[in-house]
Amino acid sequence: MQSPDLAQYLDQIQSYFSQQAELVGPELFGVDISRLDQLVLSQNSVQIHDLEKAVQNCQKCKLAESRNHVVFGAGNPNANLMLIGEAPGAEEDKQGLPFVGKAGQLLDKILIAIGFKRSEVYIANILKCRPPANRDPNPDEIEQCQSHLDQQIESIQPKIILALGRVAGQTLLKSETSLGQMRTQTYQYAGVPLLVTYHPAALLRNPQWKKPAWEDVQKLRHMYDSIVGDKPAWSPSQNKK
Ligand code: SF4
Repeated sequence: MQSPDLAQYLDQIQSYFSQQAELVGPELFGVDISRLDQLVLSQNSVQIHDLEKAVQNCQKCKLAESRNHVVFGAGNPNANLMLIGEAPGAEEDKQGLPFVGKAGQLLDKILIAIGFKRSEVYIANILKCRPPANRDPNPDEIEQCQSHLDQQIESIQPKIILALGRVAGQTLLKSETSLGQMRTQTYQYAGVPLLVTYHPAALLRNPQWKKPAWEDVQKLRHMYDSIVGDKPAWSPSQNKK
């Protein structure tokens, strides 16, 4: 269930301040235009919270029968960077949170290496429930779950998306292109620039992919700096000891 009252209320406040800013300038009663951003940010939080509540009871595919928890996603609802993986694993299903196992620990290290804290980004998966024995998602499961992800993206309004792994990349691109090919290109999903790289779990199994993955995330960070520019420009030398 959405919270129409609160969302509408925030809309009305935002609209009021916009009108007043047009009439009397960017400052009104000591409130400057930056307050409007804060109101929009609050609305993002409300939307993502409501969506999560609704998805917690989802029964749209058969994975609802075997899951322990719906793993909706986690992070900053106002994030500029959104990461999208494949599906919850055993530990994620147990805790109800994305990327909390060994792959999640590696993901945290990768994020830190390019100057992000996990709390700054938003992390979700293509599927919100764990496929048994971590098998690949079935096409019908992806189809049923896609609207949840699309609504998450709509609420968060990220400036860049990073798809983690072949399944996430192929699903978002509706393509059977290999991961090796996908990671060399910049795409768009729902109007948002999209990059694709290796899933951290794949990096744990294949350490030789860590070097190309490092190249991918450096590219991501440079693109982030040029699009968003809300942090000091990053350079790889910052990670040298
Ligand atoms: S995987 Fe997605 S569509 Fe299937 S039950 Fe879970 S939330 Fe619903």
